Amino acid sequence: MTRLDGKHCRLSVSRMQRQDSPRLVRTHAATLAATVLLMLGCAGRPTPGTASSSPLPTPDDGAAVIDLSHAYDEHTVFWPTEDGFSLEKEYDGETPGGFYYAANRFRTAEHGGTHVDAPVHFVRGGSTVDRVPLERLIRPAVVVSVVEACARDRDYRVTIADLEAWERAHGAIPRGAIVLLSTGFARFWPDRERYMGTSERGPEAVKKLHFPGLHPDAARWLVEARAIRAVGIDTPSIDHGPSTTFEAHRILLGQEVPVFENLTNLDRLPPTGATVVALPMKIGGGSGGPLRAVALVPKARD
Ligand SMILES: [Zn+2]
Repeated sequence: MTRLDGKHCRLSVSRMQRQDSPRLVRTHAATLAATVLLMLGCAGRPTPGTASSSPLPTPDDGAAVIDLSHAYDEHTVFWPTEDGFSLEKEYDGETPGGFYYAANRFRTAEHGGTHVDAPVHFVRGGSTVDRVPLERLIRPAVVVSVVEACARDRDYRVTIADLEAWERAHGAIPRGAIVLLSTGFARFWPDRERYMGTSERGPEAVKKLHFPGLHPDAARWLVEARAIRAVGIDTPSIDHGPSTTFEAHRILLGQEVPVFENLTNLDRLPPTGATVVALPMKIGGGSGGPLRAVALVPKARD
């Protein structure tokens, strides 16, 4: 951690940018960023295109670790056309050797519960889940709350206007961030009727899905204007329930931006300052997979 002055200006911005810089200019980029920040006086005003996050906080620094994943069990919510999660007991008890032993087998669709969509999910030739760069999955996060709009309209789609309103309150979404959309729908989990609009199963039930998502125009804006690295939402899909064309998926995944779905606890995160670590199961050739995501939230400074 490098502090430039007494106003908690840190070099996390240059750390993030350095990942994208050619190796030779990394040190110079850091020096330059430090100089620019010093010249700007680090007045605490967010500068477009930069991150305001802290370096990776740890529990030893007093950071809170927030679990953003639901458990996989018999209640886990899956798309109406999928079977649920199943856990089959292989052994649970004392062995002839005199010691206890437990082991299970599980079976699950890739896309159910808290999971990631890898680019190949909607894009031929896109990255499979094992090939999504880890750098995309461990990053500063911004949390955009649209809870009120989604309470009024369960088919709500997050718009560019919502994102611009968020930026007026919190500063520009930094390049390279993970954007998390908090709809409030995680509070309905695992009640399928309330969470996704129907508890029916099968292809016909898909027409009855109602839950919020991201508008395709806003998806395009996040990718093109803010160069975000990943998106997450606390509903079953980044496209809202009634979607039949899955445009937000195609736009994001088409730009290699992975999508996290069925997240939880987003309401416990600050709008800025958290770092997300979202690591999916490394299924060779998978189109997605179960995701354990956590957020590290630095201790509030006095
Ligand atoms: Zn999915």
